[in-house]
Amino acid sequence: MSRAREFIPGVEKALKSRGEPAYRLAQVYNALCSGLVRDWEEATSLPKSLRAALQEEAPAAVLELTRLSRATDGTRKYLFKTHDGHLIETVLIPEKARRTVCISTQVGCPMACKFCATGLLGIKRNLKAREIAEQVFVAARDVWPERISNVVVMGMGEPMLNYKECLLALRVLNDADGFGLAARHIAVSTSGLVEKIRRFADEPEQFHLAISLHTPFEEEREEIMPVASRRSVLELMDAARYYVETTRRKLFFEYTLLAGVNDQPRHVEALAELLDHPLYHLNLLRFNWTDTGYAATPKREAKEFLHYARELGLSATLRPSRGQDIDAACGQLAAKDLRPQRATIPLSR
Ligand code: SF4
Repeated sequence: MSRAREFIPGVEKALKSRGEPAYRLAQVYNALCSGLVRDWEEATSLPKSLRAALQEEAPAAVLELTRLSRATDGTRKYLFKTHDGHLIETVLIPEKARRTVCISTQVGCPMACKFCATGLLGIKRNLKAREIAEQVFVAARDVWPERISNVVVMGMGEPMLNYKECLLALRVLNDADGFGLAARHIAVSTSGLVEKIRRFADEPEQFHLAISLHTPFEEEREEIMPVASRRSVLELMDAARYYVETTRRKLFFEYTLLAGVNDQPRHVEALAELLDHPLYHLNLLRFNWTDTGYAATPKREAKEFLHYARELGLSATLRPSRGQDIDAACGQLAAKDLRPQRATIPLSR
């Protein structure tokens, strides 16, 4: 139960102070992660007096759901308020048999990618593991009796800057006594923190990784991803190679097509050289509008980019955009409610 101790230390303390037997911690952990309770009154496996005490001392929910928006394509966006008044967003994407939740790991993001609405916010703080995992629990309650099939850590924030809490949340989501989602159904996306990519490769779980590349050229990367490009494309590709050689798992490269910026034939040609590995996969995304001054590559040209990439031997797909009418698409999170104020936090942690 060491995972439960790390995940819900406040609840453990409350149980101890009441002299509860050790097995209560497992019951409580199970009620939160599997029973998805948001109010201890719902945890009927616990004695009534304990439920009332916990309600006072360590509430079951740490996030307040303040708004739920539904897009015409079925995508849902959850706006949460943290205990200290910050706002974060989470997106649920239903797709045939899949129910994917895209979660946030920070309030804002310090990476300042020029095309991303979250990047305009700066950073307020890291989220705790419980705040990260609870986003999935709320979405899972919302779609019940359907089940969450995938979790992607691609919402607000750079997860590798909140490594410890993020990994603990993923382990709870993966834990058979916790949420119970297979590791291969969980993916983390990073803007390219090379030391953390290597560290992530060495973790025992089979979580997937995606690296946001967005251009194969150094100077262009410096322009559109000013913080991430502090490490060169060469260093990034070294870390990528370490990841696939260590894990033997597929590695995804995210590439948002920006009109006239990174969508030219020369980009495809450079990508074909850079991503020449059987375990690399290029995920193309069309830019979703944010007031960052960039525009989307037209659909036809995006398809041509894809076809040329495949012609040159790349494994590549063009992902459909979801939830645009509620600003829930990739790069749009936090566009409306959370502006502005920039701040920075150190990159090494
Ligand atoms: S794209 Fe990702 S890493 Fe870059 S600013 Fe946005 S949230 Fe941060």
